[in-house]
Amino acid sequence: MTVAPTFLPLRRSASLTHVEELPPRSGDPVPWPAWVPPELSSAFAARGVAAPWRHQAAAATSAWEGTHTVVATGTGSGKSLAYQLPALATLLSDDRATALYLAPTKALAADQLRTLESLALPGIRPATYDGDTNREERAWVRQHARVVLTNPDMLHHGILPGHASWARFLRGLRYVIVDECHAYRGVFGSHVAHVLRRLRRVAARYRSTPCFVLASATAGDPARSGTRLTGMPVTAFTEDSSPRGGVTFALWEPPLLPAQTTDAVTDAEPQRRSALSETADLLADAVSAGVRTLAFVRSRKGAELVATMARRSLDLAVPGLGSRVAAYRSGYLREDRRALEHDLIDGTLLGLASTNALELGVDLTGLDAVLIAGYPGTLASLWQQAGRAGRAGRDAFCVLIARDDPLDTYLVHHPEALFSRPVEATVFDPGNPHVLAPQLCCAAAELPITPADLPIFGPTAEPALDALAAAGILRKRPSGWYWTERHRPDVDLRGAGGGPVAVVESATGRLLGTVDTGSAHHQVHTGAVYLHQGTSYVVDELDLADSVALVHAEDPDWSTHPRDVTDLTVLAVRDTRAIGPVTLSLGEVEVTSQVVSYQRRRLVTGEVIDTCQLDLPQRVLRTIAVWWTVTPEALDQAGIPDVDWPGALHAAEHASIGLLPLIATCDRWDIGGLSTAAHADTGLPTVFVYDGHPGGAGFAERAFEVAAEWLGATRTVVAECRCEHGCPSCVQSPKCGNGNNPLGKADAVRVLSLVLDAMSRPAA
Ligand SMILES: [Zn+2]
Ligand SMILES: [Zn+2]
Repeated sequence: MTVAPTFLPLRRSASLTHVEELPPRSGDPVPWPAWVPPELSSAFAARGVAAPWRHQAAAATSAWEGTHTVVATGTGSGKSLAYQLPALATLLSDDRATALYLAPTKALAADQLRTLESLALPGIRPATYDGDTNREERAWVRQHARVVLTNPDMLHHGILPGHASWARFLRGLRYVIVDECHAYRGVFGSHVAHVLRRLRRVAARYRSTPCFVLASATAGDPARSGTRLTGMPVTAFTEDSSPRGGVTFALWEPPLLPAQTTDAVTDAEPQRRSALSETADLLADAVSAGVRTLAFVRSRKGAELVATMARRSLDLAVPGLGSRVAAYRSGYLREDRRALEHDLIDGTLLGLASTNALELGVDLTGLDAVLIAGYPGTLASLWQQAGRAGRAGRDAFCVLIARDDPLDTYLVHHPEALFSRPVEATVFDPGNPHVLAPQLCCAAAELPITPADLPIFGPTAEPALDALAAAGILRKRPSGWYWTERHRPDVDLRGAGGGPVAVVESATGRLLGTVDTGSAHHQVHTGAVYLHQGTSYVVDELDLADSVALVHAEDPDWSTHPRDVTDLTVLAVRDTRAIGPVTLSLGEVEVTSQVVSYQRRRLVTGEVIDTCQLDLPQRVLRTIAVWWTVTPEALDQAGIPDVDWPGALHAAEHASIGLLPLIATCDRWDIGGLSTAAHADTGLPTVFVYDGHPGGAGFAERAFEVAAEWLGATRTVVAECRCEHGCPSCVQSPKCGNGNNPLGKADAVRVLSLVLDAMSRPAA
């Protein structure tokens, strides 16, 4: 079973923890549906699409019949045909009809524009409308374009507020296409859900009721996510009938480094080689074997390091060979990026290190090998990245290289969690009051909100509107709620409340971007390394009074890691389950935290350089938390002496935060935790895990729903880790506010077993 891909040298096969063979699949083509006009099918045929696959035809027909539809299949399965066919057929048959296409990135919208233009259909007039569109073009798009390709931010800031000048387009609106809709998760997803509801309401004003067609990467329960996103019932098509080559998928755990005797490693636990160094070696091995390989690396700096290290070792072996490896920079022009992709497809380049699958062109598929440096956070992203490998009739390889953290470690030792598990549901919460209230203000500024509009915005809309009226933000009249300010509400879809902090380059005064206040203390504190569009900056000063962070361009070989101290108060309990000595709860909490210092660590080795103090004020976050308590008696019976309770709970908290992304589409940085041997509000030993966004983003709620699965995986990863006292692969956390102290690894397994035993009992 464990046959290493040929380019992986045998001397390191101890790192190979699993090999999975994904069999090739033959395609299932069907005739063009009868409703597709011949000029449309022949335009696609001229582009090499002889016939649709079964899933494309089925989803397209569903949308043609007016059913809100989501197609959720793998990379390269041709999801775009599912929305192009019904939208274009409609536009060809009705010259007043229009369609709106939304993508999370400008690059995707640009790709879509090229496809539509290449079809050369008469009278379709596609155009992009985004931050790069100049004034004259914008006027033309409003007056004449029939397919408008844009993003949710532009719909929110540019189109909906000026709906009167879009009257022609909105009156004809028949299809709204939401591409890559799995990208809309967390707080951003909650905002986008309301932008789509606002679009529905404004369209209705122009007497149109468009059909929504959503395209998603493979995702858990796409019908439910699509329904939550649009607010209307959505039918899902998930069976992929496109062909693909077989892929050998290897899981790889970097080896332990020889024991070190430096003082830097205080607890003397063995350290693993970094995922970046391993990826660079594997990339070099692949390239010297003539294998065309794409390496996915989480950060851009990491991608450049991987390319540089691979080039260096290749040049040492065969001078000049290093030039066949490149890094793919998001800051490059689209033409340059496409040229790099083309060079990889035709073999001029053999290795490319890239950050994000979304930035890559859709044509870059069929590679010989894909290396994934660190689990990308969700199964959906993993399969999206892996989907770049494999051509019909040829073997291809994919290797996931684990980073030194609990989730990656769990996955490379539990292949069933990767290969036998449905992908995560996309989690977001349109009911989040911190999203709902500003979105209702935006809606009211577009058109007064009438009682008839309330169902669109959900059951909590009316109390939220009344609260806004009571606060003097909206005005309530018999006919509804009105926005009476002259300026429009200032709402950032990607922020999370509070005015943004401007990031400004000191030398030039240039505004690089903004960071919401919620994360400014963590991201742009004085001394922080801040990445903006692929360029690295170091923060000279965070000036909170003026909401500005002054930065200079610098590319240091360290990263920065903030430390904070946190306090938590329970405000209200929403739901609770008491099972024997264990109680599991979900509710509203107030978290007070203060970023007090940060560590600088070497990028490649992770070695701590130093810790620098910060002088930042406290911040207060109202959010949603899941928490569990155990009784002191049960801890006694489990054989944990009371002096060790803090370490047991703290270790269990860290590991459970590390494993939460297994069940919800969040990053461990989206969540926080707190554990204590006696919490003031519960009076008991307690572990809290909370959403890091005001009002919550749905993560804690999801954890409460599937607590047994979540905590079960948590116990497994801690129990199976081969370290003695706890390491980054199990209970240590990179964002611990207490310097990972105290941590009791063995006691964490005991306390988690206690909780799981209780939860497996039938409720009394
Ligand atoms: Zn460990
Ligand atoms: Zn901690």
